[in-house]
Amino acid sequence: MKKEPYKLDVKNLIVKGSVGSKEIFSVKATPDIEIDEENVLKAYEGEVKATLLEDSILAEFNINYEMETVCARCLKTFLRKGAISFDREYLIGKRAVAPRTGRYMAGADGLIVDKEFCIEVAGPILEEIAFDIPMKPLCKESCKGIT
Ligand SMILES: [Zn+2]
Repeated sequence: MKKEPYKLDVKNLIVKGSVGSKEIFSVKATPDIEIDEENVLKAYEGEVKATLLEDSILAEFNINYEMETVCARCLKTFLRKGAISFDREYLIGKRAVAPRTGRYMAGADGLIVDKEFCIEVAGPILEEIAFDIPMKPLCKESCKGIT
């Protein structure tokens, strides 16, 4: 599964903002990525609310997506729509450097604000969408199966 990075520029928020400042970003992509053999992510869109904290950016995601998937009963391919909400914390690079070793300390989520003051969101979005795939997706509740 290959994925393109999707970066949001949080420079303004970090440079001009103060703790508690927020900025809302719209995200939209048509990745056409095979998550597994039966699920192809066609598109997602939504909102990322970024809040500046002391040493990090808290990003709250609200994402709608469309997945081409195979019905567990009739085995037909259909377009399943889903919605997910989750958050991630990105440590701010300079402040994330360990004083002794000079190495980056990843936060609990292992994410940082990069040198260009950007946060990468495609990774977390794909991760959460993959977790959201149902065990037995149905094209419709009343699906009668193979007829
Ligand atoms: Zn079906």
